[in-house]
Amino acid sequence: MRTSLSFLPLLYAAVLAGLVLLLWLAGEWRRSRLRRREWRAMGQCRLCAAWVRPVGGADLWRCPACRALNERGVPSDL
Ligand SMILES: [Zn+2]
Repeated sequence: MRTSLSFLPLLYAAVLAGLVLLLWLAGEWRRSRLRRREWRAMGQCRLCAAWVRPVGGADLWRCPACRALNERGVPSDL
Protein backbone atom coordinates (compact mmCIF):
# COMPACT_ATOMS: atom_id res chain seq x y z
CA MET A 1 0.00 0.00 0.00
CA ARG A 2 2.81 2.32 0.92
CA THR A 3 4.71 1.66 -2.28
CA SER A 4 1.74 2.42 -4.50
CA LEU A 5 1.17 5.67 -2.66
CA SER A 6 4.73 6.82 -3.18
CA PHE A 7 4.46 5.84 -6.79
CA LEU A 8 1.48 8.13 -7.33
CA PRO A 9 3.31 11.48 -7.65
CA LEU A 10 5.73 9.94 -10.11
CA LEU A 11 2.86 8.62 -12.20
CA TYR A 12 1.19 12.02 -12.04
CA ALA A 13 4.35 13.73 -13.21
CA ALA A 14 4.82 11.23 -16.01
CA VAL A 15 1.24 11.67 -17.22
CA LEU A 16 1.59 15.43 -17.06
CA ALA A 17 4.85 15.36 -18.99
CA GLY A 18 3.29 13.08 -21.60
CA LEU A 19 0.33 15.40 -21.94
CA VAL A 20 2.56 18.42 -22.39
CA LEU A 21 4.66 16.59 -24.94
CA LEU A 22 1.55 15.52 -26.82
CA LEU A 23 0.15 19.05 -26.87
CA TRP A 24 3.47 20.42 -28.04
CA LEU A 25 3.68 17.83 -30.81
CA ALA A 26 0.13 18.58 -31.92
CA GLY A 27 0.85 22.30 -32.02
CA GLU A 28 4.05 21.77 -33.93
CA TRP A 29 2.35 19.51 -36.44
CA ARG A 30 -0.47 21.99 -36.97
CA ARG A 31 1.97 24.84 -37.42
CA SER A 32 4.04 22.93 -39.96
CA ARG A 33 0.89 22.02 -41.88
CA LEU A 34 -0.20 25.65 -41.88
CA ARG A 35 3.21 26.74 -43.08
CA ARG A 36 3.15 24.18 -45.85
CA ARG A 37 -0.27 25.38 -47.00
CA GLU A 38 0.91 28.96 -46.90
CA TRP A 39 3.95 27.96 -48.89
CA ARG A 40 1.74 26.32 -51.48
CA ALA A 41 -0.24 29.53 -51.87
CA MET A 42 2.91 31.40 -52.69
CA GLY A 43 4.22 31.90 -56.17
CA GLN A 44 7.70 32.42 -57.40
CA CYS A 45 8.48 34.99 -60.05
CA ARG A 46 10.02 33.33 -63.06
CA LEU A 47 12.07 36.39 -63.85
CA CYS A 48 13.65 37.45 -60.57
CA ALA A 49 12.79 34.39 -58.49
CA ALA A 50 11.15 36.48 -55.80
CA TRP A 51 8.56 34.75 -53.65
CA VAL A 52 5.29 36.61 -53.56
CA ARG A 53 1.79 35.81 -52.47
CA PRO A 54 -0.60 36.48 -55.32
CA VAL A 55 -3.74 38.24 -54.19
CA GLY A 56 -7.15 37.51 -55.56
CA GLY A 57 -8.18 34.60 -57.69
CA ALA A 58 -6.63 35.75 -60.93
CA ASP A 59 -4.57 33.33 -62.96
CA LEU A 60 -2.00 35.99 -63.64
CA TRP A 61 -0.20 38.04 -61.07
CA ARG A 62 2.35 40.75 -61.38
CA CYS A 63 5.65 40.58 -59.56
CA PRO A 64 6.07 43.56 -57.24
CA ALA A 65 9.83 43.52 -57.69
CA CYS A 66 10.28 43.38 -61.46
CA ARG A 67 6.71 43.92 -62.70
CA ALA A 68 6.78 40.71 -64.71
CA LEU A 69 3.56 38.83 -65.31
CA ASN A 70 3.50 35.36 -63.84
CA GLU A 71 1.06 32.51 -63.99
CA ARG A 72 -0.48 31.19 -60.87
CA GLY A 73 0.59 27.70 -60.08
CA VAL A 74 3.32 26.30 -57.97
CA PRO A 75 6.42 24.79 -59.51
CA SER A 76 5.67 21.13 -59.06
CA ASP A 77 9.26 20.02 -58.79
CA LEU A 78 9.81 21.85 -55.56
ZN1 LIG B 1 9.96 39.34 -60.40
